[in-house]
Amino acid sequence: MLGPVLLAAARSDGIRRLVSAAPVTRPVVDRFVAGEHLDQAARTVRDLTGRGLEVTLDHLGEDVTDPSEALRTRDAYLALAEVLSQGGFGERAEMSVKLSAFGQALPGGHDIALANVRPVVEAAAAAGTTVTLDMEDHTTVDSTLAILAELRGDFPQTGAVVQSYLFRTEEDCRALAGEGSRVRLVKGAYKEPAEVAHQDKREVDRAYVRCLKILMAGQGYPMIGSHDPRMVAITQELAHRFGRKPDEYEFQMLYGIREAEQERLVATGNRMRVYVPYGTDWYGYFMRRLAERPANLAFFLRSLATR
Ligand code: FAD
Repeated sequence: MLGPVLLAAARSDGIRRLVSAAPVTRPVVDRFVAGEHLDQAARTVRDLTGRGLEVTLDHLGEDVTDPSEALRTRDAYLALAEVLSQGGFGERAEMSVKLSAFGQALPGGHDIALANVRPVVEAAAAAGTTVTLDMEDHTTVDSTLAILAELRGDFPQTGAVVQSYLFRTEEDCRALAGEGSRVRLVKGAYKEPAEVAHQDKREVDRAYVRCLKILMAGQGYPMIGSHDPRMVAITQELAHRFGRKPDEYEFQMLYGIREAEQERLVATGNRMRVYVPYGTDWYGYFMRRLAERPANLAFFLRSLATR
């Protein structure tokens, strides 16, 4: 019930100021965010990869309204690529980007985002790793998939994200299930209108399973971005059915969520990649995590009450 309210709040500047200033917010944010600075993110990468997990790093930020902010995003990712290169993590540590942080919503934003993200994808390739383009609200999907196609011309390993709540996604999965493609399947984290997206959670889950079947039956590399035990179990059944070995797909979960399950999957021979956000612009990310799960919200409210 509260989910849509929190998702609307995720885009409100007034509420952003209120939540960001609350003294109790920081410790709760720390549960989901690896730190504000690159060296803290690097420490987390060393810790997780040391325990057999893989990572994808997200420099927090989205919806930039000024070309200079988009350049700052690019530079932050170039600095990250340098650290990953020096660490020699190879594909165990990749990067996730939100194109709205690279200027996608500015006038002429499609070309601006492509121009800003390309050097990051080049730097990732030079570091022996790759980039996945996160998916944002439905108005950005066509542009993001077109940028993906451009980048894949030179860097075929560039990854995409598809969201099962969108009606269009089964078709997108078919188009993206070819050889060499890397696709993260998620349920979707934005507030979307009924004209474009399933509103009923059960419908979103059913669509997730249909998309999962398409990707697991295809020739690409599926990345299962979900904490849902049912989706993990169905993935393993489908892997068996389609003869995929454990290194021919991977699970992905968010930093700080179901950590015991992340470790269990690695211990039982699966590839498990943790999505690690870091940086100062954590507000939108944090609010989407609260909206997803009443328990996350309860945790936040409990810390307010016990102060
Ligand atoms: P839900 O449908 O929220 O929950 C299903 C079940 O999973 C629950 O009943 C419970 O059993 C279990 N579960 C879920 N959360 C928890 C928890 N905190 N603790 C214990 N059990 C839990 N969204 C986008 O729109 N674009 C993106 O680019 C994107 N990238 C993502 C990358 C990764 C690696 C992941 C994991 C998610 C990403 N998301 C993205 C978010 C995604 O769309 C969902 O909003 C989010 O993952 C919640 O859906 P779910 O499938 O995990 O489980």
